[in-house]
Amino acid sequence: MTDSSRPSKCTVNSAAPSPHRVVPLTPPPKICNTILDHIGNTPMVRLSNIMAAEGLQCELLAKCEYFNAGGSVKDRIGKRMVEDAEISGRLQQGHTVIEPTSGNTGIGLALACAIKGYRAIITLPEKMSQEKVNVLRALGAEIVRTPTEAAWDAPESHIGVAMRLNKEIPNSHILNQYTNPGNPLAHYDGTAEEIYNQCDGKLDVIVMGAGTGGTVTGIARKLKERIPNVKVVGVDPVGSILAEPESLNVNANQPYAVEGIGYDFIPTVLDRTLVDRWIKTTDKESLLMARRLIREEGLLCGGSSGTAVVAALQVAKELGPGQRCVVLLPDSTRNYMTKFLNDDWMIERGFMERQTEDPLGNATI
Ligand code: PMP
Repeated sequence: MTDSSRPSKCTVNSAAPSPHRVVPLTPPPKICNTILDHIGNTPMVRLSNIMAAEGLQCELLAKCEYFNAGGSVKDRIGKRMVEDAEISGRLQQGHTVIEPTSGNTGIGLALACAIKGYRAIITLPEKMSQEKVNVLRALGAEIVRTPTEAAWDAPESHIGVAMRLNKEIPNSHILNQYTNPGNPLAHYDGTAEEIYNQCDGKLDVIVMGAGTGGTVTGIARKLKERIPNVKVVGVDPVGSILAEPESLNVNANQPYAVEGIGYDFIPTVLDRTLVDRWIKTTDKESLLMARRLIREEGLLCGGSSGTAVVAALQVAKELGPGQRCVVLLPDSTRNYMTKFLNDDWMIERGFMERQTEDPLGNATI
């Protein structure tokens, strides 16, 4: 890494008792009580073909979060936030869960609510895919679409509408992934422990995209406690303002196609002091990389996984033999079947060229 001389800004007092519920790792059960038991314990996969094609000297590993029950890393926080609210007595039978989300948190929450019998209302910007909406509806969630261009603090934004519904509906709760400590804690207790164990504590760099920042914050905090020299790289799409230094965020608030990462405000749960370096990415490179992960590694991941791997390759090329870089793949290609997986969708947006002939002379597209 270029900034390897930069000390970690994280300070840790591991002697202090946690004010939060600690959820220890449990081995996967032979028979799940419900599918909520199939959240966590996701595979770590060596990107062997891409390592060879790129001539990498270091090892590049992918934490495949799309194997969670609902198809994304956000199932972890859906389960955690619902169970924390149940344990505290806040959430009770007959109550309603409302959440503003880019979709995957909604799916994780709706999954937990479907199994546990709560009403779920999800507010979701128009940009997010129809595939996510269909899954949410199938899980019994009620959906309110909101204008993508609304600023986060506008009354018509997904956050603003959720707040209005919360006032109108008795016994409703916004568990609020932007401020809920259960969001980073799901990754501090779960995802990070798994990564540490799967790597036997040997990892040099971890690369992750940020939406709410819960994933980055929880994983970075735990790994920095355990591996003081580990470097954390955050990835942020052009159009978002999460990256530091501020000068990286050119074209702030320009629209972008990759879903689930980037924001026009800094969520409370994102602790940017834990991030050693930010890398900005474009839609085109992200979506082409997601297709490459599918084609070359058979990893059926989503667009933000492509984003993370674009940055991971940049970092991995700066690492040497014996070093190891881990990249987190947040969701599944299931969410984007009519989007980046579709050639016409890619071509219409200028992300791909139309191919008229294949090497055998047959028309292909
Ligand atoms: N990728 C996708 C597809 C997501 O839905 C999310 C969650 N918004 C993320 C990445 C980022 O996760 P986090 O909110 O924990 O930063």
